[in-house]
Amino acid sequence: MVSVSEVTDVCKVLESRLQHKGDITILLTDSRSLTNPQGVLFIALVSKHGDGHKYIEELYGRGVRSFMIEQPLHLWIDLFPEANFFRVENTLKALQLLAIAHRKKFSYPVIGITGSNGKTVVKEFLNQLLRKDFSIVRSPRSYNSQIGVPLSVWNMGEGHNLGIFEAGISRVGEMARLARIIKPTIGVFTCIGTAHQENFKTMEEKLQEKLLLFLDCRVVIYNADNELIRNAIRSSGLEARGLGWSMRDRSAPLFVEDVTSTEEMTSITVCFMGLIESFVIPFTDKASIENVIHCIAVLLYLKPAMLSNADPFLKLEPVAMRLELKEGNHGNIVINDSYNNDYGSLDIALDFQQRRVRTPGMRRVLILSDILESGMLPKTLYRNVAALIRDRKVDKFFAVGRELAKQRTSFEGIDCSFYETTADLLESQELKSISGACILIKGARQFRFEQICDRLSKQVHETTLEINLQSIAQNVEHYSSLIKPETKMICMVKARGYGVGSYELAKTLEDCHVDYLAVAVADEGKELRERGVRMPIIVMNPEPTTWSTLLEYKLEPEIYSFSLLRKFMAATMEHGLRSYPIHIKVDSGMHRLGFSPNDMDELAQLLLLHPEVEVASIFSHLSAADTPEFDQFTLQQIRTFDHAAHALAARLPNKPLMHILNTAGIERFSEYQYDMVRLGIGLYGISPNGREGLQGVVRLRSTILQIKEIPAGEPVGYGCKGVCDHNMRIAVLPIGYADGYRRCLGLGVGQVLVGDKLCPTVGNICMDTCMIDVTEANAFEGQRVTLFGDPRIPIEEIATRLDTIPYELLSSLSPRVKRLYYRE
Ligand SMILES: *Cc1c(COP(=O)(O)O)cnc(C)c1O
Repeated sequence: MVSVSEVTDVCKVLESRLQHKGDITILLTDSRSLTNPQGVLFIALVSKHGDGHKYIEELYGRGVRSFMIEQPLHLWIDLFPEANFFRVENTLKALQLLAIAHRKKFSYPVIGITGSNGKTVVKEFLNQLLRKDFSIVRSPRSYNSQIGVPLSVWNMGEGHNLGIFEAGISRVGEMARLARIIKPTIGVFTCIGTAHQENFKTMEEKLQEKLLLFLDCRVVIYNADNELIRNAIRSSGLEARGLGWSMRDRSAPLFVEDVTSTEEMTSITVCFMGLIESFVIPFTDKASIENVIHCIAVLLYLKPAMLSNADPFLKLEPVAMRLELKEGNHGNIVINDSYNNDYGSLDIALDFQQRRVRTPGMRRVLILSDILESGMLPKTLYRNVAALIRDRKVDKFFAVGRELAKQRTSFEGIDCSFYETTADLLESQELKSISGACILIKGARQFRFEQICDRLSKQVHETTLEINLQSIAQNVEHYSSLIKPETKMICMVKARGYGVGSYELAKTLEDCHVDYLAVAVADEGKELRERGVRMPIIVMNPEPTTWSTLLEYKLEPEIYSFSLLRKFMAATMEHGLRSYPIHIKVDSGMHRLGFSPNDMDELAQLLLLHPEVEVASIFSHLSAADTPEFDQFTLQQIRTFDHAAHALAARLPNKPLMHILNTAGIERFSEYQYDMVRLGIGLYGISPNGREGLQGVVRLRSTILQIKEIPAGEPVGYGCKGVCDHNMRIAVLPIGYADGYRRCLGLGVGQVLVGDKLCPTVGNICMDTCMIDVTEANAFEGQRVTLFGDPRIPIEEIATRLDTIPYELLSSLSPRVKRLYYRE
């Protein structure tokens, strides 16, 4: 809260017009988030993306009476006679100044988290681990920007005794501002990657900028095994306050003695101040393990006694980062936020709901479970919830759980129905009768609200390949972290992005700022250009019949022979071009396309006579970079390439880029990264060497069309090949070999995940359908099933059963399998 006169003092107000003296309790930067105009100060932010002044009229109409603006006062005051106006030079700075002044009022510990990944997860884990012992204020979701941080810090209040805020930056100068707003006393550095690298000269520069958050911290927690981070901590003078954890160095303040994962759990044993403690967590991925270790370090500093209770670690819940939006039945829209439930995230979800209401008359429905472990007294908690529901104008409220039912008097005046359990609600007539509504489903995990979501969402009666674009970006980052920051990257999106779909992929990769895309043929490149992809594109198999397409769309050919080169030079000459980029391929031993290493001399002579083309890069391809048995061969290939590439480059007027590593090469031979690497299968979350840390990208799913009971002895499918050896429940799926679900997966070779059961195929796979045995599964018609891409049924496993590789399986999925893209 801040008074009108404080605003004037704090924000360097140039001129103001004050009509009333009401205190400011809410800072609003986005007009769509307005609920109750009482106590609101609207801050008209001005940026490349928009101008907040445009919304003043509307907000005034809705009752807002205080505005922070940049435009001259006289333009506004006569139009809106009842409002306070404050003019400042820069409204964003004013917002930040308000937050800085607010922060100064509190002296409890504040944890500040930064790093390239994992900020939100560490914050949410800390909240889960500490909420029994502290009253915590924290950034909602991932509010970590120049706007999000001040709005988060503004939520600090007298009732709290611990703050947890994250800070994210994308350019120099930003962190110093965030540090003044958050003023953390405890710093956590999660990890460093290449995200937002574009505005920094080097990784070190970015690191140093990030560390500015910690200058006034009493302690800084970091991974001391990461050399880059360790050095940066040392050179910024933070070492004395550092609490580095290590898996290698026994002398580290927190030594991680052992990490052992089983299928679903990981046990972490740490040693500090002579004590040994073990924790079991319900995750096995590397990122979660590191995130938990950061949390252990925070607890060690903040309240070591808490470390003797391992129970909260076992109960850690995954942090769901996304709100899913789905088409529902009966004209409904369904927003699924059924992974976690706390008071802070409820408001954000309601805000999201408010923005999704498509037509003004659309009803808003909220389905909410008891809120567990809020740290508030139930009475206060549910009164606050009721106030939110009123403010956000929810039309119908379904309350599920005993606590909510006990507090029903708090919800007077709201149209609500109380159900004791999720099952009760699922059986109710009321749930079935919702139509034309925007339904927000939000529940604590144990209420299993995903069942409600399934019930209300429209089932997609199709076979779909679901593609997680966020994971693709994370995989790019993963491989970037294996190479030097200055090494460039080509992403291979040939064969329609290995079957995943090249356009969506290209857009995602453009956002990741990779340097080149590579397609197989000119038409693939043309399609990308027509849909607006601007980055350099290499065509790996250019055909002379497509030269005009190539030149028209600025596509850069791979050139692998003299005859191809002569034809291309003739075309460029005809078009009067100069220095058109080409990429020279050398055959270093694979014996597919490419110039022989002995051709370099002649090639150089020819190129020197033809300035219409310019060698942008020289490259070769490894045949067996994933097979240790052939490492000698691989090294020989690299030597051959090195020799040939340097021989050619030395004769050319410019300095071409050199590259040889594919995904397997990046993983196993990164010392030979030269100027650039070519990432292919790894993009799609598949590591040729079984490397960990990649994110799954694709999931092939289908829907059960029909279920039937078949008595033992009856045959199933063509050729009567599958005979039921017991009374079977058979499910029919709309996917067959014409979709790319190969015929050899029939007769039990293939398996399909139904619920949590793996069900074998029965009989031969047909052209458009196949049958599976769901006797053991709790299957129903309309149920979505997974054919591959779930950790329980990985694509590698299906490829192995087919005696092929994931490359073939993915790229041969037919175009009629609908591609469905999503982001977290
Ligand atoms: C396909 C291809 C790649 C990518 O290979 P991955 O094994 O998928 O990483 C790299 N270079 C060339 C020349 C390719 O054709």
